[in-house]
Amino acid sequence: MSEWDETFDVVCVGYGFAGAAAAVAAHDAGARVLLLEKMPDPGGISICSAGGVRISRDAEASFQYLKATNAGTTPDAMLRALARDMTGVEAFIRELAAVNDAEVLVTWAKAN
Ligand SMILES: Cc1cc2nc3c(=O)[nH]c(=O)nc-3n(C[C@H](O)[C@H](O)[C@H](O)COP(=O)(O)OP(=O)(O)OC[C@H]3O[C@@H](n4cnc5c(N)ncnc54)[C@H](O)[C@@H]3O)c2cc1C
Repeated sequence: MSEWDETFDVVCVGYGFAGAAAAVAAHDAGARVLLLEKMPDPGGISICSAGGVRISRDAEASFQYLKATNAGTTPDAMLRALARDMTGVEAFIRELAAVNDAEVLVTWAKAN
């Protein structure tokens, strides 16, 4: 289709984990959402993780880990935001999984 005329509240570009999560969140907040993907199949690099997502239950410990492993290349405020929001990912995934009874498996590895 070379021409189309539709209006959306939110347009998400890229159907990897980030685009999918943003589209779901925007939809659930009541927005009319368009999710665009340039490739024939969705997934992006996200499919390389085989459905695995890093989570945290300790924002401060995660911040310290990220700070140590980013070698000063990323501002602390950004690392803190990432560390903080990683503590919300498990609940988000469980909420998504409840839609179709998908199994959620949590495994713990030090600093990962
Ligand atoms: C080998 C490997 C293993 C990994 N293992 C893990 C792991 O175990 N746990 C973990 O948490 N993370 C892991 N990661 C990191 C994780 O996969 C990425 O950080 C994450 O998938 C990035 O998601 P994303 O949605 O930002 O990008 P992507 O999944 O890459 O999605 C971006 C999408 O945007 C599309 N796109 C780009 N430009 C356009 C455009 N102009 N128009 C339309 N569509 C466009 C792309 O085609 C793609 O589908 C791993 C990464 C790699 C490479």
